[in-house]
Amino acid sequence: ESVEVQIEDQEFQLEPDNELRFEVENKNETVVLELKTGLAEIFGTELVKGKSYTFYFGAKIAVFTWQGCSLKLRGKKGISYISKETPMMFYLNCHASLEQLRVKSEKEKIRGPVTMVVGPTDVGKSTLCRILLNYSARMNALGRRPIYVDLDPGQGQISVPGTIGAVMVERPAEVEESFSQAAPLVYHYGHTNMSINSTLYNTLISRMAEVIHQRMDENPRINCSGLIINTCGWVKGKGYQHLTHIALAFEVDVILVLDQERLYNELVRDMPIFVKVVLLPKSGGVVERSNKFRLEGREARIREYFYGSPRNVLHPHTCEVRFSDIKVYRIGAPPIPNTLMPLDMQKTDLETKLEPVTPGPNMMHHVLALSFSTVVEEDVVRTSVAGFVCVTNVDTSRQMLTLLSPQPKPLPETIYLMSDVQFMDNNA
Ligand code: ATP
Repeated sequence: ESVEVQIEDQEFQLEPDNELRFEVENKNETVVLELKTGLAEIFGTELVKGKSYTFYFGAKIAVFTWQGCSLKLRGKKGISYISKETPMMFYLNCHASLEQLRVKSEKEKIRGPVTMVVGPTDVGKSTLCRILLNYSARMNALGRRPIYVDLDPGQGQISVPGTIGAVMVERPAEVEESFSQAAPLVYHYGHTNMSINSTLYNTLISRMAEVIHQRMDENPRINCSGLIINTCGWVKGKGYQHLTHIALAFEVDVILVLDQERLYNELVRDMPIFVKVVLLPKSGGVVERSNKFRLEGREARIREYFYGSPRNVLHPHTCEVRFSDIKVYRIGAPPIPNTLMPLDMQKTDLETKLEPVTPGPNMMHHVLALSFSTVVEEDVVRTSVAGFVCVTNVDTSRQMLTLLSPQPKPLPETIYLMSDVQFMDNNA
């Protein structure tokens, strides 16, 4: 007789306005969710009745219902519980207010609401952005096309860590996935922490705002749908100055502050009177993430860029290039003492200076961004990037680099920008 460990299905009955929260806590384990009756959504995406949704390690999920529903969970999960206290009503009201502004902008042919979500770490900023974007995308009769702008280089939601990016949202995200990523606009910053090169970060923010405003001017549908901007959890001191710079550059109309009264009051004090600043509660379900978990999240994000996800497996390629055949630069020169600084140069010039990097062991494991600029005479620093490769081997005797690339095509002759971000490719 074989002994099989049966993991029993667990059923949950949810009253209206309740949510079921669960996590997948262990590697190699999955949890399968099914909606049996009623209506339910995950972070704004509606579930299809009878369909199985699979979640993998690290997933922290809330299944919310406005109308009541019954759910089935299968698989070994960590904690799971039903909560009756959620801030969803506040979030839905935010959506309704933004929708009013969109209707107004359509009528008056003016720019739609530019919304920025701010707050300390682990308050559910990304989740709120996702909910608001999904709600606007679900009203498909209205043809909304908001742009999601992610300015947190730490997570690299749109692309990889070390970048900031934007993507147009045409339809709700798939339950288990992020928003579909046709032609994202991505800028290479090269670090996961904004404090490493504030000048460069602000330069990229200004440039990105310029490019996005231009796209809005050209496309009335995008224009009236507006932007949802996700920011990073660093809200004190210099971090706060970054937030005000973002608000100014993107000309925000609405700031949603999650969970922090102090930040809310600072913004009310410092923002022009026409900017609407709203304080919102965070959800009790948002899970705090340790530094280790964040680090793993970063690594998983880069792995996904090259290898895809369990639902969408990708097959990256490796190729070799001669040291002499690749032009690699980094942005930001090492600081020089004031006394040696040329008179016509400022510290900030150094921080956005394009510096050639000589190929060698120093490149091992580094991510390289492929610039849309092909020659240094162009404005490389403020140009967006097309994609990424990763250095998986450096052979100094043969003067060769091995690169991991998502594409089988020969690598384009362009400018490569070296990131501080590294990725150990265990599959290689
Ligand atoms: P960061 O500090 O990186 O800026 P954040 O404020 O953007 O974080 P989120 O990424 O939105 O926070 O949320 C943190 C985690 O909590 C995510 O894994 C998310 O899936 C989970 N989460 C959010 N809301 C809920 C909820 N109501 N129930 C359970 N888990 C949730």
